[in-house]
Amino acid sequence: MIVDVHSHVMWYPDHVAEDFAAEALASKLVKLEQSGGKAHAASLDLHSYDSTPEQHWDACKDTADRTVVFGLQAKATGVWVPNEVIATYVAQHSDKLVGWASVDPTQPGHVEELNHCVHDLGLRGLKVGPAYQHFDPTDKQYWPVFALCEKLDIPVIWHQGTTFPSKANLRVSNPLMLEDITMAFPNLRMIVAHVGHPWETDLIALLRKAPNLYTDISAVHYRPWRYWQTMVTAMEYGVTHKFVLGSDFPSAKVDQVIDGLRNINAVAKSPGMPQIPEKIIEQIINENWKRVLPELGN
Ligand SMILES: [Zn+2]
Repeated sequence: MIVDVHSHVMWYPDHVAEDFAAEALASKLVKLEQSGGKAHAASLDLHSYDSTPEQHWDACKDTADRTVVFGLQAKATGVWVPNEVIATYVAQHSDKLVGWASVDPTQPGHVEELNHCVHDLGLRGLKVGPAYQHFDPTDKQYWPVFALCEKLDIPVIWHQGTTFPSKANLRVSNPLMLEDITMAFPNLRMIVAHVGHPWETDLIALLRKAPNLYTDISAVHYRPWRYWQTMVTAMEYGVTHKFVLGSDFPSAKVDQVIDGLRNINAVAKSPGMPQIPEKIIEQIINENWKRVLPELGN
C-alpha cells in the first residue's frame, strides 16, 4: 500500500501572499531544472504552487492508496489556509484522504484551534514549520500544543529544513532544534519533512537517537547527488527504516518522488563524478559579486 504522508492544499491568492508566490515560482524553476522535469507546477506564474482540491485529487487519486493532506498557517511568511478547507475536502474522499491540521504556535488560541480541528473537524495530525512561523522549538512557551498532540496520540509533521521565502527564519529550522522536544515527549510520533535538507546529516544523527522520530523523502530527489549521499549516510547510521514516502504536492506528484527514489543510484553509476559546469565557475570568479556589491561598477 502506498501512503503519501505529506501533501498540501493551498492556492494563490486566497491563502498565499504575492511575495511568497513570486519566490515560490523562482524556487520551482530551479527544482524543475535540477530534477530533469520531475517536479510539479500548476503553471509557471504566481500559481506555480497552487493546489486546489480539484488539482490535489487529480494528482493523488490514482497514485497513492492513502494521502495525508494539510494546509499551512504561518502568519510571519504570509500563508494562511483555514483548517475548514482541509476538513471539507477530505470529507468528500474519506476513503483515501487523511486530513491533518496546521496551527501557528505564535498565534493566540492555537491550542484551542488544534482541539477544535481534532474533535470537531476530524483532523488527525499537525503540521508546523518554525521557518515559516518564526518560533523556536527549544522555547518551552511553545510546547503546550505538542503536549496536546502527545496526549491525543496524533503525529506531528515538521518542515524542519531550509525553504525559499526571504521572510523565512532558517536559524530555528535546523533539525537539531527538535532534540529537546524528542526527549521531553518521547511518545510523540514526529516526521521531519524533506530529510531536513540541507541539514540531512544533523537529522540522521537525531533519527538514530530519537525512537519516535521519522523523516519523509519529499522534495529531495530534485538534488540527485545530495540525495544519494544522504541515503548512503542513512545506511551507514542504520536509520533507513525511518524514511517514509511523501510528495509535498504541489511540489511534486508522488509518482515523481517514487521515480526519483528508484533512480537514486543513477548518479553513482554515471562515469566519473558529477561535473560543475564551467559557466557556474566563471560566474563565481567574474560576475556574481555585482549582485551584492553593485556600487563597485561592472
Ligand atoms: Zn510541506
